[in-house]
Amino acid sequence: MLPPSPTHGARLTIDLEALVANWRALSQHAVGATAAVVKADAYGCGIEHVVPALVRAGCDTFFVAHLSEGIRARAVAPAATIYVLNGLPPNSASTYARERLRPVLGSPIEIVEWRDAFPGLDAPAALHIDTGMNRLGLRPEDLGDLPAVFRPALLMTHFVASEIPTDAANDRQLTLFAQVRTTLPGAPTSISNSSGLFLDQVRNFGEALARPGYALYGGNPTPGRTNPMRDVVRLEAGIVQVREVPAGESVGYNSTWIAPTERRIATISLGYADGYLRTGSASNNRPGGRAYVNGALCPIVGRVSMDLITLDITAVPHVERGDVAVILGDGLTVDTVAEDLGTNGYEVLTGLGHRYERRYIGG
Ligand SMILES: *Cc1c(COP(=O)(O)O)cnc(C)c1O
Repeated sequence: MLPPSPTHGARLTIDLEALVANWRALSQHAVGATAAVVKADAYGCGIEHVVPALVRAGCDTFFVAHLSEGIRARAVAPAATIYVLNGLPPNSASTYARERLRPVLGSPIEIVEWRDAFPGLDAPAALHIDTGMNRLGLRPEDLGDLPAVFRPALLMTHFVASEIPTDAANDRQLTLFAQVRTTLPGAPTSISNSSGLFLDQVRNFGEALARPGYALYGGNPTPGRTNPMRDVVRLEAGIVQVREVPAGESVGYNSTWIAPTERRIATISLGYADGYLRTGSASNNRPGGRAYVNGALCPIVGRVSMDLITLDITAVPHVERGDVAVILGDGLTVDTVAEDLGTNGYEVLTGLGHRYERRYIGG
């Protein structure tokens, strides 16, 4: 383990080799081709590092949420196909054309604007069909209004609950999507996110292009079962101080935790400003987050503050200022940390802060 950085409170290590191994494993599992979803700065892992690593591994199609993210991806992947999920904002068609990006069109007005910009509708774009999310996408009953010449480069839909294989929404959505497919024959299809890739029904459907995000970055696409993916992110914070707290004294803001007996407390250089949610705070009645110190799992005590967190290290011998606490890694995965924080691993990853020392390995 490296010593903490003298200039930064915490260090985020991103393992590009594990990321590439995850993409390869997912592409081997998929029935068709496999893209990579790199929205939200590649789930916090850094678009400028993640995209080139995946291009070198053979990934040629990427999805982002915003046009600005598409422009960043284009800068590091000149030859890739890049789709922008959030659609076509007003007056943006010329930017799409300049950057050779493809919008995911999902409403009649977007299709009209795309046709006004490219009257032959010959500029490639995806068409998003809403099969139950009620968020983005064309409803199947609106398909009749499509311009006859429109041939989507990709016909896609998005699952509501693919991480729960028994959820009835999965079959309902697939049935609707299969009906839509018959009205646009020949359009390549794209259905799965990370969890969708593991649904038997999707494998039987035979989509052309899978769109995993979360699993690439180490998230478990099969909750409740063993995670088939490798960890990609590791987060370590330096211990700033170690102190003895007498029984009956409180630790942190608003005294939510009171030492039941004399305790040894380590204060680490990480807080909610770094994306470690305040919901990881602990009171005497309610446990919060955890971190490894010298190989032992230690509980957070008291409130998570902006720049600092306090850990109870009473059970761990020989802890000193300058040692390192492991927040993510060694078995504390994005999924287990998410559980500690009362959220999902997506929020843990995309919330990763911007003031860490960032280290990329395995590139
Ligand atoms: C985010 C997103 C994905 C990727 O989902 P994961 O669960 O992260 O794999 C795929 N498709 C759409 C439309 C998305 O918004």
